[in-house]
Amino acid sequence: MTGVPGLAADLRVMREDFSLEVDLGIEPGGVLALLGPNGAGKSTALQALAGLVPLRGGRITLAGRCLDDPGAGVFVPAAERAIGMVFQDYLLFPHLSAVDNVAFGLRAARVPRRQAREQAREWLERMGLAALADAKPGVLSGGQAQRVALARALAPGPRLLLLDEPLAALDASTKMEVRSELRRHLADFNGCTLLVTHDPLDAMVLADSLVVIEDGRVVQRGRTAEVARAPRTDYVARLVGLNLYRGRATGGRIAIEGGGVLVTADSCEGEVFAVFPPSAVVLHRHRPDGSARNTWQGRVAGLEQHADTMRVQIEAAPAVLADVTAAAVADLDLTVGAPVWAAVKATEIRCYSTLDSDGCRSAPAAGPV
Ligand code: ADP
Ligand code: MG
Repeated sequence: MTGVPGLAADLRVMREDFSLEVDLGIEPGGVLALLGPNGAGKSTALQALAGLVPLRGGRITLAGRCLDDPGAGVFVPAAERAIGMVFQDYLLFPHLSAVDNVAFGLRAARVPRRQAREQAREWLERMGLAALADAKPGVLSGGQAQRVALARALAPGPRLLLLDEPLAALDASTKMEVRSELRRHLADFNGCTLLVTHDPLDAMVLADSLVVIEDGRVVQRGRTAEVARAPRTDYVARLVGLNLYRGRATGGRIAIEGGGVLVTADSCEGEVFAVFPPSAVVLHRHRPDGSARNTWQGRVAGLEQHADTMRVQIEAAPAVLADVTAAAVADLDLTVGAPVWAAVKATEIRCYSTLDSDGCRSAPAAGPV
């Protein structure tokens, strides 16, 4: 593993009531997003990579150099790891100007003072912040502070950039702008990037591939688009906004675990996942006559505004999420407890085996797949 040019990490960390066992690889220039619910171990993974928490087992190598290997007695301290960090709650030193904040990163990498300030100014210029070089963080907007933090992390030329929820503290409009800027800067960066995020859009826009962890274990990994198309746990399905079911398929009929039957146009047999987007569900007040192969009755369990659509939670067998317009909610008189019919065309339902490509059986919400 020592010859690997990018990051190769087999992370085993023990905390009081929690154990993390996650392996990650990133090619130079690659961006990997690490996703998972609260408490899954994302920050613990970053801290282990950064050298803030020692490994209990496993190994980390970066650009051919071993950083942590408890079996071999190797532990490179945080400051010597060639790793840049941008953490949501560790942005900038408030008493230092923007340029001194960036120079700090360079000084920590042992660049002489004068040279550090010169390089820091160049970085701020690159980030479009030359005019704010002498400003203190207190007068910077959230987006500007974020760019200074990124400049500070990138200036010393790290081989690995760690971003922990870098956009989480920004308001919605700034977030969009900073996200596309970040994408540009990451495209210019030839080291490895690991991005922790809660936001599927961040992952879609910024990352080439994803690793999803739940309870300290990897539950799904792959190219971003593949994971989004074919979720394997409820968490991933909710994240990408899909209805996901497990069941047993026989000739296009899927008997859903927990009740109900779905008909799909896909050919599939055996233990399968079935998915369709909430936008594929049409709601009716009375049993529909139309051509949809799947129609079933339920009750409205909840309503939630989602951008310009309403997401309706329906208690039924199987339970389902439907996205409809606000006008439809009014027309159908959808309120919590109201009876409703859901209809989905067979051609909208995709179906794939619960066995992953390695032939492992996938276990939703627990255990590595
Ligand atoms: P995430 O970033 O995915 O929300 P964390 O890595 O912060 O998850 O936490 C994972 C688990 O480790 C949680 O159960 C949390 O309570 C525990 N944990 C986090 N930090 C510490 C710590 N310093 N000491 C002991 N347990 C911790
Ligand atoms: Mg965290």
